[in-house]
Amino acid sequence: SARTARPKWDGVGRLADGHRVKLLANLGSAADATAAAAAGAEGVGLFRTEFCYLTAASEPTEAEQRAAYAAVLAPFAGKPVVVRTLDAGSDKPLEFLPMGEEPNPALGVRGLRVAFDRPELLDRQLAAIAAAGADTGVELSVMAPMVATAAEAEWFASRARAAGIARVGVMIEVPAAALCADAILAVVDFVSLGTNDLTQYVFAADRQLGAVAALNAPDQPALLRLVGMVAEAGAAAGKPVGVCGEAAADPALAPVLVGLGVTSLSMNAVALAGVGSALREVDLATCRAGARPDRPLPVRVAERSAG
Ligand code: PEP
Ligand code: MG
Repeated sequence: SARTARPKWDGVGRLADGHRVKLLANLGSAADATAAAAAGAEGVGLFRTEFCYLTAASEPTEAEQRAAYAAVLAPFAGKPVVVRTLDAGSDKPLEFLPMGEEPNPALGVRGLRVAFDRPELLDRQLAAIAAAGADTGVELSVMAPMVATAAEAEWFASRARAAGIARVGVMIEVPAAALCADAILAVVDFVSLGTNDLTQYVFAADRQLGAVAALNAPDQPALLRLVGMVAEAGAAAGKPVGVCGEAAADPALAPVLVGLGVTSLSMNAVALAGVGSALREVDLATCRAGARPDRPLPVRVAERSAG
């Protein structure tokens, strides 16, 4: 008999049984945003705002930031967009923010930690993000990178709400945050798993070091158990749990993440069609079977259906 053709990506993320999984885009520039909109992204799950700062000799003004963010957000009017506040420091130093030498930069002052000593830097960015959201008519959310504790999440959420931003989340990319996701979800509206950093920190394996690349595998049980814990905490709180690390872009792993309870997947635009069509081939029961925690390795759903 004729083989059934792989279902095509049509801009709505869902499984074979209709279960919805939002498929969103990761962006770093206006060119990325145009490509993501053309590729049928349902919204933006991660807008990395670093681009606005990394090459600047001085801090971009609030007006400059507002214009730069609005140019990126414009194609997503009326759609959900998650803007991440500055994730710099340590290995991504800012020219205008000299920081001390650190023996372990990945464990140093990076992400939200940069803002603890300089809250006015964060407040200016939040004001610019709020204004750009209003300028473009996106359904705006904001989230912070490198959050380790519920107290940090609460500190960020109160500043974001003071800036007039209604939906506030944090990334879960530090193991401590994953382990206490229930406490974090009590003080924010959503979380998004950054599996690139979470994997690095769980396996104590530098994500940029080829010699330990084999350990940097998001399909390992240690990582998937944490993803499952965070998704369960989200379900208990009635709040969304996304994945915006590279794991979300893997068509074999995406159904496993959905089986663990993840509610949205955010990826580079080029990955949307492959993940979107892979999800159409499986139902939720199959995804859940592929994510069973009692197995030494997850059954990769796409590999099994291909076998
Ligand atoms: C991550 O850590 O998974 C993530 C999405 O953030 P970044 O890759 O920008 O560190
Ligand atoms: Mg990260």
